[in-house]
Amino acid sequence: MIKPAGRITGIKASQTILLDSLAKDLAQQGQDVINLTAGELDFETSNEVLDAAKDAIDANNNHYSKPQGLPQVRSAVCNFLSNNYDLDFNDNQIIITNGAKQALYSCLQVLINSEDEVLVPVPGWVSYSQQIKLADGVVIAVETTDDFQLDIDAFNTAVTEKTVGIILNYPNNPTGAVYDLEQLEKIADFAREHNLWVISDEIYSKLLYDDSKFISFAKIYPERTIVINGVSKSGSMTGWRVGFAAGPENVIDAMTVLQSHLTGNVCNIAQFASLPALNMKPDSLDNILLELARRRKVVIEWVDANNKISLTDPAGAFYCFLDISEITEDSEIFCETLLTEFGVALVPGKYFGRDSFVRLSFASSLENVQEALKRMTEFIEKY
Ligand code: PMP
Ligand code: GLU
Repeated sequence: MIKPAGRITGIKASQTILLDSLAKDLAQQGQDVINLTAGELDFETSNEVLDAAKDAIDANNNHYSKPQGLPQVRSAVCNFLSNNYDLDFNDNQIIITNGAKQALYSCLQVLINSEDEVLVPVPGWVSYSQQIKLADGVVIAVETTDDFQLDIDAFNTAVTEKTVGIILNYPNNPTGAVYDLEQLEKIADFAREHNLWVISDEIYSKLLYDDSKFISFAKIYPERTIVINGVSKSGSMTGWRVGFAAGPENVIDAMTVLQSHLTGNVCNIAQFASLPALNMKPDSLDNILLELARRRKVVIEWVDANNKISLTDPAGAFYCFLDISEITEDSEIFCETLLTEFGVALVPGKYFGRDSFVRLSFASSLENVQEALKRMTEFIEKY
């Protein structure tokens, strides 16, 4: 029998990806399934991106390139961070990675020693805990407030001598929470006091609703923040796998050493394709945001009309984290029954650290969201 190494045996596969694949398989087998699991926009990748990729192919970019990323792409990242978030990075402080996911992974690999503790606000995205374990670190869950804001008291309680860093993610997956300047400054003061790294996962930074404002954590705590972002969400380019990290040069250098053994370089064609997405004008997402806001409103109105489910309205990203505690405390059974009997796929909140919640992604057409809500009404009435 083949036994995998110890470092992988305790690692769970990404449940978001597993459920998305399951829903897609069921639909392919002809079942009537509405898939609201995926953290993936349903909009087409722009023609500018596709043309940039075609041009890059025609220009014969067929050979290895620098592990840190193509110089013009690193420059475009600097401009993106400067134009959008008033951040001052130079090319040496940027690495291009296979999606934000690999940026997070590599960053944790280079910052964490065995048994170092990392503070992770809960609810939080499924991959953080597993990536910390893969770096031989220890995950310390830090509860957020009832409306999913950061709770500085909880941070103060959780910190120990072994704590080396914090992972922040806003707009948040799965809650959609965004943090204001006052909260961020409190966390920055706390991080400064304890000399902590902050890995700031800002992958949803362009997706905001109402009057929400996004402030990059690097603006407040530049000395020890590593910004993680990419074109997956803002450029509707999930499959292209282009992300980046921006941070202190010695951290980026260490990530580049790792990258030189791990993947070499990110696919040249994908890197060229990301240029139009990084260079996009501030208003180029307006139509997408209008459409997402329309879907978000439909879910909020449905929740308002439904006395069994409640919701803290998401300020960003494209998820609604629905409180199902009036119905059940078992989000897996809720999702399983909803899928098998009513053909609606959601993600159990358990995977994000809250079992009495489920995550609904509205990155699917308005018709799909409406039909799913109709079926969920029938489901709730039945049980
Ligand atoms: N961070 C969060 C919070 C996410 O939801 C995701 C999911 N895509 C990622 C990072 C990874 O993004 P990418 O597709 O660029 O790897
Ligand atoms: N991040 C997305 C999600 O939460 C995509 C899947 C994944 O990478 O986890 O659904």
